[in-house]
Amino acid sequence: MTTATSVDPKAVVAYYRTASTGELIQRADALCRSVHGDKVWLRGLVEFSNFCGMDCQYCGIRHSNSKVERYRLTPEQIIDLTVQGHEAGLRTFVLQGGEDPWFTADRVAQLLDSIKTRTKGEVAITLSLGIRPRETFRLWKNAGADRYLMRFETSDPDLHARLRCGVSLERRLEALDDLRDLGWEVGSGFMVGLPGETEETRIRNALLCYEKHFDMVGIGPFIPHPETPLAQAPQQPLELALRATALVRLLLPLANMPATTAAGSLDKQGREKMMAAGANVLMPNITPEDVKKNYLLYPNKICLDESGFECINCLDIRTHLVQKTIDYARGDSPSWRSGQSE
Ligand code: SF4
Repeated sequence: MTTATSVDPKAVVAYYRTASTGELIQRADALCRSVHGDKVWLRGLVEFSNFCGMDCQYCGIRHSNSKVERYRLTPEQIIDLTVQGHEAGLRTFVLQGGEDPWFTADRVAQLLDSIKTRTKGEVAITLSLGIRPRETFRLWKNAGADRYLMRFETSDPDLHARLRCGVSLERRLEALDDLRDLGWEVGSGFMVGLPGETEETRIRNALLCYEKHFDMVGIGPFIPHPETPLAQAPQQPLELALRATALVRLLLPLANMPATTAAGSLDKQGREKMMAAGANVLMPNITPEDVKKNYLLYPNKICLDESGFECINCLDIRTHLVQKTIDYARGDSPSWRSGQSE
């Protein structure tokens, strides 16, 4: 059905439909270990701005949530965080923000150049800055960025347009295709448990990840935020996200997949459960403690009171609980390295 190099998606989906969650997870875990070993890559996450011009219905920092205390780190602060992270041994940084117009194409390009210089070209930089023009993606790639994350969130075109201010799924996929054409290591993913989503949507979400050969796939449970239009939506169990993680792992053996903070926020052992279901990445949040409490896409987010550097010790213990070991190296996705995704 699935080996590291050959996947029969129809057989995988047929298996998924009938397998118990325990069986599914066991198989995904075995496959993950056969490809990635017991390693879990560490990424230093910097949430540098919670300003956003978009109004996604599920998101706690959406433009129209006037209760959010907005913040924006300066480029110098962002550079200092990556230098500090580099000294602590981290070799990948994820720079994530809302769709904040202050961070123009040129400002981000200058930032990338400074980070690469100050960290001696030894780190990979992942950007997560939403849909931008193809020429901007080209500029940032040339300025030294390595990877881009842009989750499509749902493969249902109507649901996508409804939840994301009318932006079409097609436009998002076009931007992901632009990134692929320009040589980026491309990450995407989806939310699990959105109101209006069905089991068939979740299967289509996973198959879309397979069809697009994403190098990285992030899957997080939907957690209703009280200051959004979806405040009253029901909370679905983490099990749905674990099943989706295992399904994607079986479809994309070579992809890097984070054990998401949202999973750890919904369930105290959520990240361990994700790692046991095929995830192989953790992202300690190194955003300064005085502002990271304001980057709440969903409520009850964990790890807000301690520095990301302190979190690494905790993550080390958590990975050992599932017989895995954290690794500080760049950890490029094997699919991108091998050109399988071309
Ligand atoms: S999901 Fe992203 S683009 Fe949408 S409102 Fe939140 S931060 Fe902005």
